[in-house]
Amino acid sequence: MKNSYLRSILTSLLAFIVLPALAQQPTFTRQDTIRGSITPERAWWDLTYYHLDIAVNPADSSVRGKNTVHYRVLEPNQRLQIDLQPPMTMQKVLQNGKPLEVQQDGNAWYITLTEKQEIGAVNALEVHYSGKPQVSVRPPWTGGFTWTKDSKGLPFVATSNQRDGASLWWPCKDHMYDEPDSMLISVRVPGNLTNVSNGRLRKQETNSDGTKTFHWFISNPINNYGVNVNIADYVHFSEKYQGEKGPLDCDYYVLRENLNKAKKQFKDVPRTLQAFEHWFGPYPFYEDSYKLVEVPYLGMEHQSSVTYGNGYQNGYMGYDLSGTGWGMKFDYIIVHETGHEWFANNITYKDAADMWIHESFTTYSENLFVEYHYGKEAGNAYVIGIRRNIQNDSPIIGYYDVNQEGSGDMYPKGANMLHTLRQIVNDDEKWRGILRGLNKDFYHQTVTTQQIEDYLSLKTGRDLSTFFNQYLRDTRLPRLEYKQDGNKLQYRWTNTVDGFNMPVKVFVAGKEQWLQPTNNWQELKGLKKGAKIVVDPNFYIEKGSQGAS
Ligand SMILES: [Zn+2]
Repeated sequence: MKNSYLRSILTSLLAFIVLPALAQQPTFTRQDTIRGSITPERAWWDLTYYHLDIAVNPADSSVRGKNTVHYRVLEPNQRLQIDLQPPMTMQKVLQNGKPLEVQQDGNAWYITLTEKQEIGAVNALEVHYSGKPQVSVRPPWTGGFTWTKDSKGLPFVATSNQRDGASLWWPCKDHMYDEPDSMLISVRVPGNLTNVSNGRLRKQETNSDGTKTFHWFISNPINNYGVNVNIADYVHFSEKYQGEKGPLDCDYYVLRENLNKAKKQFKDVPRTLQAFEHWFGPYPFYEDSYKLVEVPYLGMEHQSSVTYGNGYQNGYMGYDLSGTGWGMKFDYIIVHETGHEWFANNITYKDAADMWIHESFTTYSENLFVEYHYGKEAGNAYVIGIRRNIQNDSPIIGYYDVNQEGSGDMYPKGANMLHTLRQIVNDDEKWRGILRGLNKDFYHQTVTTQQIEDYLSLKTGRDLSTFFNQYLRDTRLPRLEYKQDGNKLQYRWTNTVDGFNMPVKVFVAGKEQWLQPTNNWQELKGLKKGAKIVVDPNFYIEKGSQGAS
């Protein structure tokens, strides 16, 4: 009961449902490949700018409008892929005012361009579309729109579409490797409501029919699942956070009825920013501000408009994922989703298979938050505490080119992998420098796991290839086997990939001692007979003591 409860909580947390079948090789369709790979119809053009200009009508749950897609030609080609998932439909696509031929193949729409596409040219397409987008069955774990009402019966509407894709509700290049350099989002809503999207509110217009249009401009690259629309009778309050790059505008949009609760609970925002700027460097989107926006689902890391639905309580929906008590000291959604501004929005995976780059670092950010505010022992206890949620049933890295992330272990196991790596580095300032270096050197970039693994090897001065193969690509937990024989300690790694050679810290009769185990037995001599051996619990490994002999 407890276990299945935990599992269901964790499954919820994972932003998707972990099916047991995932342990076996799943089957993928041609549509998965079209969605998940850099197809020839995507590869030849580089996104520069989107203007998404839509009307959202809560009365009939419809969306209508257009997206103007600006792109730079990398290689000449006349066929271009835009994704838009049924039941949404494209009405027409124009280039320089001329209608183009469009062929639909499932979620992909292939546009035949008539004008010559010259290398280096920046061209634009207007994609007109409409429909009643998929309603999310279980937001944010299934994608789509959520149409609800507040306590006064006014519409309370939001989008969430990680994994299922932004193309559920707007036409785009729905692959993570390419981001526009900037974006304008114009959303027309009933006149008594406010729309909050990403970036800064550039302009608000009242139309002749009484509706209002909100124009939000994002001046930085943005990933497609980060784009969002939130519509309600919002009230707004704000503060300035004095951060590493100067004053950061923090804007909060909440339901009128929750204003007082929000003013209290959102005090976690400045202390979250403080902890993460310390560990990771400046908040990556000062130009676009920081926002926390109330939504009718748990929350999501939408870039510069983090969405919040944790019920104005600490923990994860009031629950401590670590079981240590430290998880109740903060609002999980504020801390976790804000952590994603560094790992997901600043450093973004190119392929969903590498989603650990988002979730492992961000889960790890939770214990760094705890450490910053409550001390190192507290942070250690928290990250060790979340080990109880690890399944070790399928690898953290998923399947490439089919939009398929790996095991939900990317959350607690990934965090513990990073915590273990910190022990190996054994120098907290150096480790902090590496975390900040990642955010500086991969600033506003999309990356592969190899880039991150190579960077960590380079900066730690150690070849970490077997370390990452073990924790990211294998489900076995390394077992440190050791036995004492008189004044000797014998030890080795088992249950590992070939060549696994992670050093590990033990305490021999209370004295710190580093071991360099391999898969072969080694010896440490000169021990006092019966000296007590304690393996540092910060290493995420299995201990296989064979006792004294
Ligand atoms: Zn997350």
